[in-house]
Amino acid sequence: MADFTNEELLAWLDETLPLERSSALELHARQSPEIRERLESLRQSRDQGGLTLGEIWRRHRIGCFSRDVLARHLRGETGSGLSEQIQFHLETIECVWCRATIESMNETDLTRTTRVFQTSLGGLKT
Ligand SMILES: [Zn+2]
Repeated sequence: MADFTNEELLAWLDETLPLERSSALELHARQSPEIRERLESLRQSRDQGGLTLGEIWRRHRIGCFSRDVLARHLRGETGSGLSEQIQFHLETIECVWCRATIESMNETDLTRTTRVFQTSLGGLKT
């Protein structure tokens, strides 16, 4: 019996859930009205702006950043204060979640600026 956390369901809504897990969830959702209800209610909360993946995650971990914020960070578009927080989060805390989010970014996420961003984010695809 597959078991999915709210974080995973939200990641799926955001299309950031790893493919393997995502397939398992889709399969499971077909047979489980309960999962579909949870997805629907999470989607509604999220669409009302009351619940973001970051907010949910923060309750369990030390502040994570949304995909959008991370993308802006990589494009060098965040202010220095925020930028420092993100650097700290990625490089000192080494948050696997945010690193995975960055790993999954494609050119569209990153091409809004031509600025080359250099950090120790070794895993970043170029
Ligand atoms: Zn994080």
